Amino acid sequence: MRKTLYLKFVLAYIIFGVFGFIVVATFVSSMTTEHLKREKADALYKEATLIANTYASDLYNNATTLDAVKSQMDALDTYLSATIWIINPSGRMILDSSQELNIENEVVIKEFDPTIAAGSYYTVGTFFDTFDEEMLSVFAPITSDFKVKGYVVIHASMKDIQDSSNSLLNISYITLCILFLLSLIILIFFTEIVYIPLRKITEATEQYAAGNMHYEFSVESEDEIGYLAASLSYMASEIARSEDNQKKFVANVSHDFRSPLTSIRGYLEAMLDGTIPPENHDKYLTIVLNETDRLTKLTNSLLTLNNLNTKGMLLNRTDFDINRVIRNTAATCEGTCRQKNIAIELILTGDSMHVNGDMEKIQQVLYNLLDNAIKFSHHNSVIKIETTEKGNKIFVSVKDSGIGIPKDDLKLIWDRFYKSDLSRGKDKKGTGLGLSITKEIIHSHGEHINVISTEGVGSEFIFSLAKSAFEDED
Ligand code: ADP
Repeated sequence: MRKTLYLKFVLAYIIFGVFGFIVVATFVSSMTTEHLKREKADALYKEATLIANTYASDLYNNATTLDAVKSQMDALDTYLSATIWIINPSGRMILDSSQELNIENEVVIKEFDPTIAAGSYYTVGTFFDTFDEEMLSVFAPITSDFKVKGYVVIHASMKDIQDSSNSLLNISYITLCILFLLSLIILIFFTEIVYIPLRKITEATEQYAAGNMHYEFSVESEDEIGYLAASLSYMASEIARSEDNQKKFVANVSHDFRSPLTSIRGYLEAMLDGTIPPENHDKYLTIVLNETDRLTKLTNSLLTLNNLNTKGMLLNRTDFDINRVIRNTAATCEGTCRQKNIAIELILTGDSMHVNGDMEKIQQVLYNLLDNAIKFSHHNSVIKIETTEKGNKIFVSVKDSGIGIPKDDLKLIWDRFYKSDLSRGKDKKGTGLGLSITKEIIHSHGEHINVISTEGVGSEFIFSLAKSAFEDED
């Protein structure tokens, strides 16, 4: 592709040059000759009519002598560089400015026919074979008493006209050459502005196609090509980033699967080879069971994330009572709360509050937030779940007074597999996927989720939901 584009442009350039030359050599050449011929014919016709109306008609009316007219015609002959004839309608030569007067030697133009010009006032040719070369001959009739007495014919050499036409044509050729050279600038511009950037882009796409997504290139122009290059480069960097993310994701998943598997294997082997005595089996089997729980949780979270990513915005939206969902979720966590003596305080607006969204997914959001709040709360503390109505939005807040989140971690907690150092000791089962699932769900609803947290004081997660369009209090 690369070579042909440049070749095509050069070829077009050469074709432009050749066509230019052909046009000048044919059309321009014949147009110039035609124009000069007409101009000359016009000038000579004016002279011929003048002569016909003055000297020639005087001669026919015997108002002047042949000698006197001859000397006038000789002067005009030199001035016009042309031969002037006065001839009878029969073709008999009365006067020839190129010859001496000779009455004895009568010259008659054979087959002279004044209609030769066929409606025009001039003709080109050898004029009834009287010349050896091509001549431009102009006619003007000499009339007296409404009768044609004779003709004034002026002959100019076509060679002279051709010579001036050629010198004009030379100017055209020089102009054409200058234009051709100047248009080289277009070729240079094309190379600089289109061809070189395009070659860079093609090279880059080849590299990307070969899998080298980190290949860097730059096109420093602010036109469409520059924009194309920048978009391509951005696309490649995004693909590279998502590839890196994918690698990191797989590494994290493998790591999170491997550690429980290693510990399960370790305990089971120890039980089989007797390192762990049978009386302790119960204790270690419970640990193994916990580890399998963790694996199940991890698998479920991965499946949920995958579904969210592939289904994108596919939400099963309905109008539902968020208060009821909050109450149900709080109830399911009662058991875990009792273990740590944690109380859940519900501060809900109204008996029921209808919102629009995917109920199951919102329930999962609430569960994730409440589960985290319980995990990271101290014993004997209170967790508050509050709803607030603002305009057409409902804000749900889950607030604990637990360990809090360090300032530097606040942005990272939404990333997949992120677990803060602080939380590791408290929560061994955590996968680090809960909040990224939560964020995906809220974002796919077109809503927002935020966190306010102070290390050692507590955390508050707040998310928004759209109020149902039909508010029926049931
Ligand atoms: P996990 O399933 O491990 O809890 P999450 O994505 O839900 O993963 O949370 C990521 C991290 O965010 C947690 O490991 C913890 O460090 C921090 N975090 C989340 N919620 C709270 C909270 N209520 N209090 C303190 N830290 C929290």
